[in-house]
Amino acid sequence: MYPNILHLFANTTNEYPETLQHIKWEKEINHTNIITVLPKDVNGEMWTFKKVVDYYGYPMYSKRISNAIRTYQHALTPTTKQHSIDYINRNFKKYSKYKDLPISDKCCERLKKEPLRRKAKELGLECAILGILASESYQREKEWLEYGCNVFYERKDNQSRPLSFWTDDDIAEYIQRFNIKIPKLYEMGYNRNGCMYCGFGVQLEPVGQNRYQKLKKTHPVQYNYFLKNFKNLMIDFEINI
Ligand code: SF4
Repeated sequence: MYPNILHLFANTTNEYPETLQHIKWEKEINHTNIITVLPKDVNGEMWTFKKVVDYYGYPMYSKRISNAIRTYQHALTPTTKQHSIDYINRNFKKYSKYKDLPISDKCCERLKKEPLRRKAKELGLECAILGILASESYQREKEWLEYGCNVFYERKDNQSRPLSFWTDDDIAEYIQRFNIKIPKLYEMGYNRNGCMYCGFGVQLEPVGQNRYQKLKKTHPVQYNYFLKNFKNLMIDFEINI
C-alpha cells in the first residue's frame, strides 16, 4: 500500500558484505526509500563492534545469559551479587563458569537500538514496523505472547511486528511466490544475515559448522580480522573457531 515507506537500516559495523551490497542494491537500483543509521553516541562519536567488546564485553551465548553476567559483574553490594549468582545457577548453571569473563548484552543497545531510537526521534517517526519472528528467540516469543503483534501506546516506542507468527517456511514461500530478491548470503549456506561476529546462539550450532567456522570458508578476510581481535576471547568462551 505504501511503496515509498521509509526504511531504516542500522549498520552495526558488524555486517556481512552481502548485507551491505543488498542495501546498496535496494537504495540505488530498487529505489527503496532507505536511510542507513550508524552507531554514533549523543556526542556524535562512532561506536564499532570492537569498541563495544573492549568497553563492555562480548555478546556471547544469549542475550539473557549475557545480561545476567553483566548484572552479576556490576552488582553493587554482596547481597545483589549473590542474587545474581543464584539467578545464573537457577537458569543457566552450565554457563556459571564464564561469569567473570568479559561478556555483556550491551552491544545491541549501543550498535542498533539507541541509534535507531535517536534517528526515529529526530525524524518524528511514530511507529516502527519490525520484521522479527517470535520463533527467533525465547525473548521474542515471550514478548509476542505478552503483547501481540501491535504494541501501541503501551511502552516507550510504538511497534508493529506483523511477521511475529510467521515461520521460516512461510518466509521462504513468500520469497518464492513474489520473487523477492534477497542477499547473496543465503546462497552461501547461511540462513540468517545478522551480525557477523555476534556470539548469541553460537554454542548451539552444529559441531564443525558454527558461524565462525563457516566464516573461515566463505569470508577469509573477515575471519582473519576476527581471529586477530577475538581469538583469545573465543578460547576463554570455549567456542570452536
Ligand atoms: S545482534 Fe549481536 S553483534 Fe549485532 S548488535 Fe546485537 S548483540 Fe551486537
